[in-house]
Amino acid sequence: MTASTPTTVTTTPTLKHQTPPPPVTYTIWWSNATFFVAVHILAALGAYYYPWYTVNRASLILCFLTWQAACFSITIGYHRLYSHKTFKAAFPVRVLLAALGASAFQGSIKWWALRHRLHHRFEDDPQHDPYCATEGMLWAHVGWIFYKRNYEKLEVIEKHDLESDIVVRTQHKYYLPFAILAGFVFPIVMGMLWDDPVGSFIWAGLVSKIMIWHCTFMVNSLAHWNGLQPYSDDTTSVSNLICAMLTCGEGNHNFHVRSCFKLNYSTFLSFELTPSA
Ligand SMILES: [Zn+2]
Ligand SMILES: [Zn+2]
Repeated sequence: MTASTPTTVTTTPTLKHQTPPPPVTYTIWWSNATFFVAVHILAALGAYYYPWYTVNRASLILCFLTWQAACFSITIGYHRLYSHKTFKAAFPVRVLLAALGASAFQGSIKWWALRHRLHHRFEDDPQHDPYCATEGMLWAHVGWIFYKRNYEKLEVIEKHDLESDIVVRTQHKYYLPFAILAGFVFPIVMGMLWDDPVGSFIWAGLVSKIMIWHCTFMVNSLAHWNGLQPYSDDTTSVSNLICAMLTCGEGNHNFHVRSCFKLNYSTFLSFELTPSA
């Protein structure tokens, strides 16, 4: 019997042998989480004690209008105009989109657009995609709201265009008062006109907030989960008709994601339902 000769195995570095990325650290974002949960509770209590058939019809119409105004300003303003530079807009239009967008309580234009650019650049990457769908639908829909994270790749995301726009800078600086005025005070003042400030606050202030939030967040969850992939299966993005109908067309996410790398950022060429494109 002979002693076996030790064998030296030489391996060439592969992806598996590279230094793993640092673990993502999550800190609970208490202020965000508390506000988000509180609005849900207050909206539910309000709708229970002031059901739709007891409030002034004008308050219900305002609820629908504020929901749609917020929806279009997020899709046209925050998303198409500012995140993707799909088109240019005159100063008054940018001011209007910034004001209505603030009413949606989804952060400032700058905050929103930078994270959206991260989402497209690192889509489905748990390390760098803020709304990463591969982390689960609950995370993609609302989970990210509850945690504060530092995204190291924000450094590589272009932001000069946002910082050089006076509308974006001003809205970012005074975001909270703008959001409160447009999102909560405005429905109360309008409700005073038809003698129903409480009903107007509950439906056009609180309930419409729930509607715009979950419709927008559906693009991160439902439009990455269930639907068709006629343009690309490189990512989890899909085209979901129900989501598209509730989000001014944003649910047609598969073409949008593909077009981010190809032609332009709109869905003009996709022949899908996209009112905001
Ligand atoms: Zn986008
Ligand atoms: Zn997406």
